[in-house]
Amino acid sequence: MESIKETGKKRLVRCLVCGEIMEEGTLVCPVCGVGPDQFVPYEQIETVFRRDTKEVFLILGKGIAALSAAKAIRERNETCGILLIGEERELPYNRPMLTKSMSEGLSEESLTIQKSEWYDENRILLLNEKTVETVVPDKKEVRLTDGMTFLYDKCIYALGATSFIPPYVGANLPEVVAVRNIKDAQKVALLAAQSKSAVVIGGGILGLETAWELTKKQVKVTVVEMAPRIMPRQIGAETSDRLTEIASIHGIEIMTHATVKGILGVEHVTAVELEGDIRIPADMVVISCGIKAVTAQAVEAGIACNRAIVVDSYMQTNFRDVYACGDCAEFEGMNYALWTEATQMGKVAGANACGERMEYQHDLYPVTFHGMNTSLYAIGDNGTREGINYQIVNGEAIKADQMEQYYFVEDTLVGAVLLGDTSKSAWVEEAVKGKKQQKELFLDKKSKDTKGETEMEKYICNVCGYEYDEAAGEPDNGIAPGTKFADLPADYVCPICGAGKDEFDKA
Ligand SMILES: Cc1cc2nc3c(=O)[nH]c(=O)nc-3n(C[C@H](O)[C@H](O)[C@H](O)COP(=O)(O)OP(=O)(O)OC[C@H]3O[C@@H](n4cnc5c(N)ncnc54)[C@H](O)[C@@H]3O)c2cc1C
Repeated sequence: MESIKETGKKRLVRCLVCGEIMEEGTLVCPVCGVGPDQFVPYEQIETVFRRDTKEVFLILGKGIAALSAAKAIRERNETCGILLIGEERELPYNRPMLTKSMSEGLSEESLTIQKSEWYDENRILLLNEKTVETVVPDKKEVRLTDGMTFLYDKCIYALGATSFIPPYVGANLPEVVAVRNIKDAQKVALLAAQSKSAVVIGGGILGLETAWELTKKQVKVTVVEMAPRIMPRQIGAETSDRLTEIASIHGIEIMTHATVKGILGVEHVTAVELEGDIRIPADMVVISCGIKAVTAQAVEAGIACNRAIVVDSYMQTNFRDVYACGDCAEFEGMNYALWTEATQMGKVAGANACGERMEYQHDLYPVTFHGMNTSLYAIGDNGTREGINYQIVNGEAIKADQMEQYYFVEDTLVGAVLLGDTSKSAWVEEAVKGKKQQKELFLDKKSKDTKGETEMEKYICNVCGYEYDEAAGEPDNGIAPGTKFADLPADYVCPICGAGKDEFDKA
């Protein structure tokens, strides 16, 4: 078992999908389950800030934000007390795997982030199965529902979020579940074993992941989505349509424009009723309608909240010595409720609670989906905003079940989507973050693909004299700059005179 400082000396890699930092040589990302083709080298910047004190750091919550804060504190303060208080029985675990490994059987051990010895070694105390009731910033005090009271020097509020459950009639029936913790995921697995059909309410990533896990268990799944298409906030229409087709190939029915009226059944679930008098028979229902930040204790304490707790770039709330981080906090009005974000916010909160000045900045977080025998990687703005004139350029010729699209606004790359083959995600992430111009992007890509060995050439149409320039491509026709003439589809025709590909000669 390692102490925090020893971990910092290892060669590390970063998972492009979920942002997890791991030791080089790790075969599967423990957070999101992808393999080394999605890992890039990562250099850990070790902090030089040190301030050893006898302070008590009270961390409310036991998720990744809380754990990251605790790590950051111990890295900076050898002698302080660190206590994490959380409702769950388990050691902090990889929450994203809950909807990714249901059908393989969830083992607590495989999900655990750090074994119990690690906490002992780093003198981080965990108080399990305890519920925080009240925070009293004026007295620097936290009370639990069982009457226990703790005084703190610094408090880090990291109570995360709960699943949002719309007030449907029938939502309290025993076969209805929303997945937020290990118990929920275990309940889904149990219900799946005794169900023939299921309705998943919500066509977001978690809903689709759950639909796929249930399908693998031979449960017939219908996903109902209120919006006109699945994942409307994360991916553009064309990608949504492709994913819907892929789902249908695997027997998952997706109903869009579907408004749930209620869940039917007297003692047990029998169906889900939609507006328009539509009933979908179901033995179980999974609600996947987003999350709700846990803010009740903050609101009662007078800590400023909108949808989540308002923090500045130091993760400081409106109270001195009270910080917030993770799914329960919002910075600049936003929280994407993602693992990397919670990890980073926790780290910043911990560092600042110790007295360092570390600022948090929003990053560009990718959206990923692995299931239905495909994988999706989407980053940035890939066609989700109304009224924007996107120029969409397809990547090179690829298989029918694959997609590679680049979204430009005024010639600047703003987003990209890879479906089916996500091996280029490292390069794509860099390009989107670098706001590449179209020509620059594809020339860079071509030279990267060919290691600079291939030169761009021109081909002349023998009928009308039109010149096809490989370097320029034909973006207006969806042909990316850098596309070799040989890679053009067999049915390519001259955009001027309509002559076929065989009418062209090298210039
Ligand atoms: C099924 C699932 C799949 C996901 N997949 C992905 C993914 O693929 N990629 C990605 O980036 N993100 C994913 N996420 C989101 C990601 O897991 C969260 O953003 C992250 O876990 C948030 O961490 P947190 O520490 O802020 O909150 P949480 O993980 O919610 O931790 C908060 C902790 O506080 C405890 N708590 C709450 N109230 C109290 C109280 N009053 N007293 C004591 N304890 C309390 C909770 O029990 C919990 O242990 C997924 C989430 C879920 C649920």
